[in-house]
Amino acid sequence: MRFTLVGTGTTVPDADRGPAGFLVEAGGARILVDGGTGTIGRLARFGVDARELDAGVYSHRHVDHCGDLVPLLFTMRVGPDKPRRRDYPIWAGSGFQHFFDGLHGVYGSWIQPESWKVRISELRLDGPDSADLPGGVRLDTLPAVHSAGALHLSFTGPSGYRVVFSGDTGPSEALALLAAGADVLVTECAVATTDQWNSHLAPDDVAAIVAAARPKRVVLTHLYPMVDPEECLRVVRAVGIPVERGEDGQVLEG
Ligand SMILES: [Zn+2]
Ligand SMILES: [Zn+2]
Repeated sequence: MRFTLVGTGTTVPDADRGPAGFLVEAGGARILVDGGTGTIGRLARFGVDARELDAGVYSHRHVDHCGDLVPLLFTMRVGPDKPRRRDYPIWAGSGFQHFFDGLHGVYGSWIQPESWKVRISELRLDGPDSADLPGGVRLDTLPAVHSAGALHLSFTGPSGYRVVFSGDTGPSEALALLAAGADVLVTECAVATTDQWNSHLAPDDVAAIVAAARPKRVVLTHLYPMVDPEECLRVVRAVGIPVERGEDGQVLEG
């Protein structure tokens, strides 16, 4: 399974880091995970035509994580060589169907043509849930401490390689549970202290989760400008597990 960091930034415009977006590839399938504004353009930069994606998974409905949903579905209509012929399945937390219905009310057949359908499967927000994704990828979820239907996401490839993505979250015992023993924990570290925003993680919170879960490797993402990356790395490294700041285009593979 390959897990590509398509966007390691935030909603703050940044030439080098896009908003949250990731790509899971396994068994010939390509699954988009989140996709804030500009994600489909960044996919093209990394050699992936968004019109050929097999499925989508969304951690929650904030625009820095799903702002490119309408452009994505719109481009799937566009040929002449690659107009879509097959359905596009999406997995996301409960409430996503209502969210999509609102978008459909605005955009109509531009994002939901007659010839293929967006098929949404909602995941529980009150406990663990799971789904079998294309390519033999297993998705396991737990509710995150955030809003807009937020989930922690765990992707297990056919080889057993497992990557956990925090999504957006405040301090979360569920994230420590889901990340226990994972090959990689890709986690947000959006704030310097939780009194800035209490629905996000500060370096101390990430360190506590890493110490409890003990994944093999930690990749930091979604750092807002108030976070000093070096200080964040220093605090999390003190746990004694390899940690780095993720970069757009970086590939995790196993
Ligand atoms: Zn959010
Ligand atoms: Zn976010």
